[in-house]
Amino acid sequence: MSRYRIHVTGIVQGVGFRPFVYRLALEAGLVGFVYNDPAGVWIEAQGDSPALEQLLVQLKAEAPPLSKVETISFELKDEISEKSYTNRERNDAGNDINMDSTDVALCEYCLRELNDPSDRRYRYPFINCTDCGPRFTIIRDLPYDRPLTTMAGFPLCPDCKAEYEDPLDRRFHAQPVACPVCGPQVQLVDAEGRELAGSDGAIEATVEQLRRGKVLAIKGLGGFHLACDARSDAAVALLRQRKARLEKPFAVMCPDLDSVQRYCVVDEAAAALLSGNRRPIVLLPRLENGQKLAAGLAPGQHQLGVMLPYTPLHHLLLGEFAAPLVMTSGNLADEPIAYRNDDALERLATLADGFLLHNRPIHLRCDDSVVTTLNDGPYFIRRSRGWSPEPINLPVELPAHLLAVGAEQKNCFALGRERHAFLSQHIGDMENLAVLRAFEEVIRHYQRLFRVQPEAIVHDPHPEYLPTKWAMEQGLPLIPVQHHRAHIASCLADNGYAGAALGVAWDGTGYGDDGAIWGAELFLADAGTNWRRLCHLGYQPMPGGAATVRQPWRMAAIWLESAGIDPYSIPGFGEKLAREEWGLIKTAVERGINSPLTSSGGRLFDAAAALLGVRWSSLYEGQPAIELEQLANSAETGAYELALDTSRQPWRWDARPLFRQIATDLQAGITREAIAARFHRGVTTGIRHAVEKAAEETGIRTIALSGGVFQNRLLTTLLADDLKQRNFSVLLHRRVPPNDGGLALGQLYLATRSMGNW
Ligand code: ZN
Ligand code: ZN
Ligand code: FE
Repeated sequence: MSRYRIHVTGIVQGVGFRPFVYRLALEAGLVGFVYNDPAGVWIEAQGDSPALEQLLVQLKAEAPPLSKVETISFELKDEISEKSYTNRERNDAGNDINMDSTDVALCEYCLRELNDPSDRRYRYPFINCTDCGPRFTIIRDLPYDRPLTTMAGFPLCPDCKAEYEDPLDRRFHAQPVACPVCGPQVQLVDAEGRELAGSDGAIEATVEQLRRGKVLAIKGLGGFHLACDARSDAAVALLRQRKARLEKPFAVMCPDLDSVQRYCVVDEAAAALLSGNRRPIVLLPRLENGQKLAAGLAPGQHQLGVMLPYTPLHHLLLGEFAAPLVMTSGNLADEPIAYRNDDALERLATLADGFLLHNRPIHLRCDDSVVTTLNDGPYFIRRSRGWSPEPINLPVELPAHLLAVGAEQKNCFALGRERHAFLSQHIGDMENLAVLRAFEEVIRHYQRLFRVQPEAIVHDPHPEYLPTKWAMEQGLPLIPVQHHRAHIASCLADNGYAGAALGVAWDGTGYGDDGAIWGAELFLADAGTNWRRLCHLGYQPMPGGAATVRQPWRMAAIWLESAGIDPYSIPGFGEKLAREEWGLIKTAVERGINSPLTSSGGRLFDAAAALLGVRWSSLYEGQPAIELEQLANSAETGAYELALDTSRQPWRWDARPLFRQIATDLQAGITREAIAARFHRGVTTGIRHAVEKAAEETGIRTIALSGGVFQNRLLTTLLADDLKQRNFSVLLHRRVPPNDGGLALGQLYLATRSMGNW
């Protein structure tokens, strides 16, 4: 007799691995238990040695089809007296983290049953099993057990109950298990809430309306989507008009991978993300000769956000519609996404022609995640459904329970205890009270679920940020962490890196130590907390302050002026610049009126975009930079000069030569594609020069890249490759976004180092 403790890693969750182990153990007459946690599947098994060795072989050789075993390690344990083999919920195993289950897309087995006319759940929109279905969005409290989920109101029928209680069944202890007899039902209602179709014909009737060009509000997993026919110009225009959303792209949901490939280029990494069990929106390049979709989906963009169905309801809907649907978040402008039936009927009444509802309540709203790919993995724009609330392990132990409240834009907060950071789902732009309330609600929920009682609050020092103001009112000790240091710390924590690094933070906006608006910074991220600012972009006034964000031409004009170039001499730009207006603005700048100083890298990209005629004004955040990036000709090898001035401390990046060169090239009629590329390559080289100089002085050769500007894949790739070629070790974000959505993780991480001071 012996006892093994076996650890299996790889793709072993959400693929039927636990029931598989359970079956093997029963067949071999072993005792013990199996459970999983974020680190993989853990097995304890006790019996005679040949049977145990056999088990180790079978784990790899007979693993379930959807699994992919990467490593199997084991150690001997002392035998204990045990009578049976059990398939445990992870919290039975004494795991410290009580609940970290993300919502999981419908699994292959359930999909097969959904489409099998002989199955009792044939076409049932709420089919799920242990390996798939809702988790996080239906949990009201712990332990994760049906009475504490929003499934409490659906008592199990005898058939479901039998499955739920059978350890050999795929639905053993699947909390949301349900069937047409005992589970939730769908219903289609009109904008006044009157029923148009019940569970029998609701999906067909919804599809019928979508075919007629209507906009439907559809209740999903973490909230409502607004849906319409993605091929119809009229339907998409109607949705834009109602949502008051001018050009910000809409995401689409395609029936399957084949369908996606008719519109977009899908490489292997993208395919894996699209069809994996987290199902984010994946940003994909459009096919040049792809099938036609509505022009208004993503105006001016060469890429499209696409996802595949992730709930059985989506599968039925898309299967029936058999073409891409717009699936954009169910909200008006910047409000939080609607997730309760009554709330949706009220708030979305003017947006939707009808509502496909169901009676399984969503306890917690959760927006779709948005990713692109980088180095064959996901690169996050927004980390939300499918990943939240999976904890991120920190490279250091937290000395206390902490709450980091994040930034104002793209807010996510983080709660931390021991080595775990629980980064929230996307909360939104904290510019109105509705979002602030959502923020508070989710914080309370996280505190309860993860048993975190914050002893201090980490915040951005920006006095006008709503989360900062909120933090001030909580009566707890406060730990301010400067915005761009937090970005760099986020990248370090994201990579599990606790050593010293040089941190390149290129970003839109962040409050600096000196009160200026920072955003192109190089830090010495050493063991201390107040990381030294080694270099920054030379300050430039922002004519009109925040107005420059929507009107990037203002930044272009001021950069030209400071480079000694007459803006009216620039073909294409000078003609559009109103003399009187610019004259007044210039006077205001000279007098220091409403023109705060900035070192923002984001505004530098805006200026270049405006100068090239890409974007005179910006209709959503990041639009100028996105369009500038896609304009760049990849074959171009030239680069402008982002000069480095090391005569002062901190050093300065000087962009004036760069603007002089753009001006010369525009006057010489060089193509905008070439100019856009030379701009990106110039910025890359300029950053690298500063990094090389800093490395010489400090001996540090690990470089972290973070901040919203690094959503730009062209810049990120150029710079990372350039640095790697020179034998630098480059840290890029992998698990959280480089933008403000990842900031709270860095706040948490950096705060731990200053804990001695509060
Ligand atoms: Zn399933
Ligand atoms: Zn049932
Ligand atoms: Fe930022």
